[in-house]
Amino acid sequence: MENNNKAVVVFSGGQDSTTCLFWALKKYDEVQVVTFDYNQRHNEEIEVAKEIAEDLKVKHHVLDMSLLNQLAPNALTRDDIEVTDGEDGGLPSTFVPGRNLLFLSFASILAKQIGAKHVVTGVCETDFSGYPDCRDVFIKSLNVTLNLSMDDEFVVHTPLMWLDKAQTWALADELDAFEYVREKTLTCYHGVRGDGCGECPACELRQKGLEIYLEQGTEVNR
Ligand SMILES: [Zn+2]
Repeated sequence: MENNNKAVVVFSGGQDSTTCLFWALKKYDEVQVVTFDYNQRHNEEIEVAKEIAEDLKVKHHVLDMSLLNQLAPNALTRDDIEVTDGEDGGLPSTFVPGRNLLFLSFASILAKQIGAKHVVTGVCETDFSGYPDCRDVFIKSLNVTLNLSMDDEFVVHTPLMWLDKAQTWALADELDAFEYVREKTLTCYHGVRGDGCGECPACELRQKGLEIYLEQGTEVNR
């Protein structure tokens, strides 16, 4: 029997999923996190996720998803493929087809094992990067499928779905986690924590949102 007050957060140690973790910690009695290890370009990511989970005293599951690299070698998992933006409507080179489909399915199987009703993910449609499985309609569809597949009543939560990066910073601040998220998380493709290398697409997006938030503060509408 699932527990109404227990949640699993899909967790990478980045800005978005760490903000989701703080969100979940406010909302649920018990929170556990799951990180997927698929030979990320920087194993630093797993290390950061471990440290944050320890800091916040939540149980951390690391699942081996190296098969993903076998199926779809790409810029996140291979050093010889350059990280590009996906301009002109193309998909960014960091794209792994079906990644969220797999991650959310495995997170939900884990939720089933530990008796958690809620699954939380930081996917977002606003800063749309071309990943079809970050869209709201996909998440809703998968939620139905998960419930049917396991005859259960999971609820998949996407607290960031309609927020832009500045609003995600505002949410972290609201959760009293602004400094923590800014200093401890890793978003950079080059493995630099906090404000990052400042040059890769992930850093640019994060930095732009941060600047807007710092300029406009709580004026950023949610
Ligand atoms: Zn960077």
